[in-house]
Amino acid sequence: MNLCDRNTVRRLMASYGISFRQEFGQNFLTDSGVIEEIADAAYPTSDCTVLEIGPGIGTLTRALCERYRRVVALEIDRNLIPVLGETLADFDNVTVVNADVMKTDLAELLAPAFAEGPVAVCANLPYYITSPILMKLLESELPFWGVTVMVQKEFADRLCAAPGGKEYGAITVSAAYRGKAEKILKVPADRFLPAPKVDSAVVRLRLYGREKPIVPKDEALFFKVVRAAFGQRRKTLTNALSTGFPELEKATFADLLTKLDLPADIRGERLSVEQFVNLSDLILEVGK
Ligand code: SAM
Repeated sequence: MNLCDRNTVRRLMASYGISFRQEFGQNFLTDSGVIEEIADAAYPTSDCTVLEIGPGIGTLTRALCERYRRVVALEIDRNLIPVLGETLADFDNVTVVNADVMKTDLAELLAPAFAEGPVAVCANLPYYITSPILMKLLESELPFWGVTVMVQKEFADRLCAAPGGKEYGAITVSAAYRGKAEKILKVPADRFLPAPKVDSAVVRLRLYGREKPIVPKDEALFFKVVRAAFGQRRKTLTNALSTGFPELEKATFADLLTKLDLPADIRGERLSVEQFVNLSDLILEVGK
């Protein structure tokens, strides 16, 4: 069965009496070249387990099963589970789990996979929830080799942005803290069924694991500082932080910026990952 053929996809879905669910961000890929490239990018050899978020009808899943030792596919839409039973019937190295990724304990689900060897994430992400899914992966302590994802083009630009621009935000800093993002492919909207309103791009985030160039003393606090800094984009960093940390005096943040040689009226988007790490270490000290 060719799942990149649009008529085949429509016929398959009709045979199960289901239609595309916009509320789940269901835009299925129908370009075999793109599928091959994303699947190839997930990991350099076959010796890997791949977590796929949102397998849909299994188009990318099949390519992952052909390449890697094991695939764990998490799909929220229970209507798609019988379809996946049919489209993945040729493979004995896939486990389909009917669950919402946001409510899944990934450490528990993937414990056997991590015990066995490397684990990578590969997905054509549902656009309505791209940022929360990526933040969940980035904030987790799980030692993924990398995260290769199809996202909206604007989101890809944010993931790969440099400090100072309007695209630079909490997701950029969190991604840059955990790894190195690289845009590997642009994908026009007409390669999906149904076509979304905007173009997409595939980004691969190669995670540093234990080799992170810089590590905060308290990682949870670091992420909280980053979220607070960009929670109120139009505010100065001092004002945004005093909203995010109401237990601390506003003057404290002004002092911390002086210690870091940063201007008092600086905004969060001008700080590098390293500066955010230094700032969160200082906040840890004053909060003690
Ligand atoms: N992988 C397929 C492809 O490339 O054609 C489908 C990708 S489609 C953009 C996103 C998929 O994620 C859909 O199958 C959707 O039902 C699923 N999904 C949406 N929200 C989810 C969630 N919270 N947890 C798991 N899967 C989800």
